[in-house]
Amino acid sequence: MGQVKYIFVTGGVTSSLGKGIISASLGKLLTARGLRVTIQKFDPYINVDPGTLNPYEHGECYVTEDGAETDLDLGHYERFLAVNTSQKNNVTTGRIYHNVITKEREGEYLGKTVQVIPHITDEIKRNFLALGHNGDYDVIITEIGGSVGDIESLPFIEAIRQTIWDLGHENCIVVHLTLIPYLKAVGELKTKPTQHSVKKLLESGIQPDILVCRSERPINNDIRKKLALFCNVPINRVVSSIDAKTIYDVPVLMRKEKLDERVLELFGLPIDGDPDLKHWEDFLERLKNPKKEVDIALVGKYVELHDAYKSIAESFIHAGAANECKVNVSWISSEDVDEESVEEMLKSHDGILIAPGFGERGFEGKIAAARYARENKVPFFGICLGLQVAVIEFGRHVLGYKDANSTEMDPITKNPIIDLMEEQKKITKKGGTMRLGAYSCRLKEGTKVFNIYKETDISERHRHRYEFNNDYLERFESKGMIAAGINPDSGLVEIMELKNHPWFIGTQFHPELRSRAVEPHPLFVSFIKAALKNREKKEKA
Ligand code: GLN
Repeated sequence: MGQVKYIFVTGGVTSSLGKGIISASLGKLLTARGLRVTIQKFDPYINVDPGTLNPYEHGECYVTEDGAETDLDLGHYERFLAVNTSQKNNVTTGRIYHNVITKEREGEYLGKTVQVIPHITDEIKRNFLALGHNGDYDVIITEIGGSVGDIESLPFIEAIRQTIWDLGHENCIVVHLTLIPYLKAVGELKTKPTQHSVKKLLESGIQPDILVCRSERPINNDIRKKLALFCNVPINRVVSSIDAKTIYDVPVLMRKEKLDERVLELFGLPIDGDPDLKHWEDFLERLKNPKKEVDIALVGKYVELHDAYKSIAESFIHAGAANECKVNVSWISSEDVDEESVEEMLKSHDGILIAPGFGERGFEGKIAAARYARENKVPFFGICLGLQVAVIEFGRHVLGYKDANSTEMDPITKNPIIDLMEEQKKITKKGGTMRLGAYSCRLKEGTKVFNIYKETDISERHRHRYEFNNDYLERFESKGMIAAGINPDSGLVEIMELKNHPWFIGTQFHPELRSRAVEPHPLFVSFIKAALKNREKKEKA
């Protein structure tokens, strides 16, 4: 295919309508028709990236292969499309301004007044098109964060208008996602908020090509007609997006509404039969017809907001489907766990996962949970901080280092079993300075992880500053906790596992960032399998 086609996805009426899922679903359908698609997200906030945001502010920070700290919607794109994204796929207002101001300091605009129009909008436009230059993609979907009408989205909306003007409408379309609320008192779906939000777009010179309408109830033909008439959109381009049982249903629902065909028509591209959704539908079939179930405790610090652990929650869904098993996750605040309460809180669970995290709060609760899993032979999965917790617990209670700790929690501990990585010691700036992105890991033959991955050299994504202190490794291994995976270049411990335990694995990396709906992560699949086994054993006893 020649000219790259651009789809802009905007949102109206309210935020949190699921633009990310709609973008990912449309991307999925186009990929399933053989097109090469990527999705990027433009966020109107001023942070250069979400890496320094508290998860309660913004949900999980999703890390890409190339080490970008990005919005969690990129996780949806990867999970749906099964392709990698990169730094270029997530751009914020902060990054745009940062680029423009850097250029200004370098003298690139010498003599000119630097302004929002044209300099900021030009920089946005340059970034809109950046992924389209190498011939890697046929279609680029750009999701704009926030809602139309927000003051901070205005430069993005203007940049879309100009891009349509530059490239022509046959190469650029706008999909607008809105809400059709249901008013119980009158028993009606209301179109007015959508009309207003389309008017807002029109004020900025943009006529949406397709309306995707979120609603709790089905949108009948009269409502579609009304929306078409008042929003200047042909009726077959008013697409209904009714609340779904699972986000993974949305591609199928969008297919029923023929969203993919409407897009192809607008681009003047041929519609050859149906998209190939076989693997997707197989996955959905298994997801919806579980034969068994397991209860998993997810012990973490940010449990009130499930978005803080989005990729872990989704990885459980993928791994559950692979095992034809429903995974019930209990979100347990590590601050509520201590040596006394731990048994009561965890005993009904078939597996325990300790989540990634930062800082001291809730740390001792995680230690208690890891100890419980180790001593009671409950399948245990520790991710990043979860691995660090598991080794500190082992150091304290098996090796007898009573004050064993991470220097993150206790900078003057005599037994820094987890310590700041050497290259981190000189770093003072917080943004984008952790060990980020994909690094390789060599697995030891004969270990559990080797049997799970079935290969020696793997690569996984990271986001941390601290690491296992190799001065202690011999003592750990002599007592049965072994370094099953190390980074071949630096010797950094990537995986620890326990020998005399059915399933006790901690990873310094984040496997959840690599799990996809149709390619579940092997560690999650194996963990769920072990939890199932544990459950069966308990049921028999
Ligand atoms: N706080 C720990 C570190 O920086 C763990 C980070 C994480 O869990 N992502 O090493």
